[in-house]
Amino acid sequence: MQEKQKKYHIKTWGCQMNVYDSQRISEILQSLGYVLSEDATESDLVILNTCHVREKATEKVYSDIGRLNILKQRRQKVGQSLIIGVSGCVAQAEGEEIIRRAPCVDLVFGPQTWHRLSSMIKKIEEENAKVCDTDFPVEEKFDSIQNTAFDKSRINNGSAFIAVQEGCDKFCTYCVVPYTRGAEYSRPTWQVLEEINRLVKEGAKEITLLGQNVNAYHGMSHDNSEWSLGKLIEKISSIEGLQRIRYLTSYPAEVDDTLISAHKNLPKLMPFLHLPIQAGSNRILRSMNRNHTKEQYLDLIAKLKEARSDLAFSSDFIVGFPGETIEDFEETLDIVNRVGFIQSFSFAYSPRLGTPSIDYENQVPLEEKERRLYILQDLLKQKQREFNEKTVGQIMDVLFERQGKFAGQLVGKSPYMQAVAVDNAPTDALGKIYKVKITKNYNTSLIGEIVE
Ligand code: SF4
Repeated sequence: MQEKQKKYHIKTWGCQMNVYDSQRISEILQSLGYVLSEDATESDLVILNTCHVREKATEKVYSDIGRLNILKQRRQKVGQSLIIGVSGCVAQAEGEEIIRRAPCVDLVFGPQTWHRLSSMIKKIEEENAKVCDTDFPVEEKFDSIQNTAFDKSRINNGSAFIAVQEGCDKFCTYCVVPYTRGAEYSRPTWQVLEEINRLVKEGAKEITLLGQNVNAYHGMSHDNSEWSLGKLIEKISSIEGLQRIRYLTSYPAEVDDTLISAHKNLPKLMPFLHLPIQAGSNRILRSMNRNHTKEQYLDLIAKLKEARSDLAFSSDFIVGFPGETIEDFEETLDIVNRVGFIQSFSFAYSPRLGTPSIDYENQVPLEEKERRLYILQDLLKQKQREFNEKTVGQIMDVLFERQGKFAGQLVGKSPYMQAVAVDNAPTDALGKIYKVKITKNYNTSLIGEIVE
């Protein structure tokens, strides 16, 4: 009799790095004979790949575990099993506490140990054991995944992500990442180039280099010299068939001359840069331990614009950080007006357990934080609208990546990460880049027509 195929399901929260980790976890599970299922209720193994950044992240994970526990109990009544795993930053932060609080969980592993998943799953399957592994062997992880089976589904209609750097040594006073992802580590250059060559051979046209502090990259090359991100991008740019390069997330104080030159000299490097500033007031930036002032940030923007005049920027903002006065907040509005960010992520400050700012005095009342956030978001939307309006009439390269809302409509990405919808696009346009004339601005998305 043929053995029943085992199925797995992964739910992913959070940043692009978590999405990347889930893709690599999938590759490992597939090498163990599991097949992906979109439905947790029909799976033999469910992994919750968690994020610790957003508010109430831990509670949300526990409520998902509660639902899976009901499913597990139902299965057990009819002699079937369900393995429940928790990975990602909540797993790293909570560790064995997760199994103590929710004994139905079989497996807890952090962002740096998913390469050991095969042996963890075997232990659970064969010994019915509980496994918790929240070490930080980041180097071992990247060495070992080099030999894992390659899953083509990582390439999403021409676009693929690759982690080149992990961890953070910056310790911004509101952020849990240095505690959950560990110290900064850069993958060796040859590993990165080998993986990108493979992705391009399998059809990737656009590669996004990922890292918590991606521009702190300093990977070793075969001749034992250290390459900066700028130098790495220069090399990647020479890969034939690759058409677009992006990187995220950057730390302003780590932008060096090689990176600025890359923006100047490499047309494949897209003219769009996510460069988080978080706040406009130097007092607040100091309290956040951001290592840059408003003036230094503006100088950097000017240098980058000088290198490539069509470069546009997006950013992250936290409003209502402890001690933020109205004057401080106005500095944030000022920087938005000066830079004119074309897309942004903005949040009201919310304290995170284990970070220094949770104990800061002068916490801003919730109502005031929300009021300031509303004002900031209104301004950010206006800047986005203005930028999008300017692109009407322009011809831009669009990489088509998904079906649109309407029959025959495809949606793609402009060089500036704007969503561009095109009616009557060729049916085989997905994963390809076309020249598109922008005809209409819907503020957060654009409409266009293929011209070539
Ligand atoms: S740079 Fe700051 S915000 Fe970014 S990951 Fe590191 S500590 Fe967190």
